[in-house]
Amino acid sequence: MKQQDEYWMRHALGLARRAWEQGEVPVGAVLVQNDRVIGEGWNRPIGQHDPTAHAEIMALRQGGKVLENYRLLDTTLYVTLEPCVMCAGAMVHSRITRLVYGAHDVKSGAAGSLLDVLGHPGMNHQVELHSGVLAEACAAMLSDFFRMRREQKKALRQAQRQG
Ligand SMILES: [Zn+2]
Repeated sequence: MKQQDEYWMRHALGLARRAWEQGEVPVGAVLVQNDRVIGEGWNRPIGQHDPTAHAEIMALRQGGKVLENYRLLDTTLYVTLEPCVMCAGAMVHSRITRLVYGAHDVKSGAAGSLLDVLGHPGMNHQVELHSGVLAEACAAMLSDFFRMRREQKKALRQAQRQG
């Protein structure tokens, strides 16, 4: 682990919080080059009507615009949750140097949990990987969000029964 990993993961957690505030599953991502933010994203497929609007994709898109290059060389992407297949694929296409993620996604993670897209030996680009940074805080944000949603649904059902 690098010294600044926790710092940037905290930044990504702040972005995940924005997704929460917009009613989206709270995942945040920040793309860093030479200690400078070049891309930020938070999950917002619902609000954007866009199935590809995951935090990582948003951060990579912004980074491409900042660098004016579709190759995002010498960058590190920090994400609060292990990426899905789509996002892991985008990381390979964009040639990021390093991925640091927080919580594991045992159901659909594509950086080693369900699949290992990034570590596949046939891939033409290898992304350095570091996982588990602030994993508890990252996982807690997701579990708190889903608990809140379950409670909201329960309260709604009760209100409907009483109505
Ligand atoms: Zn994704």
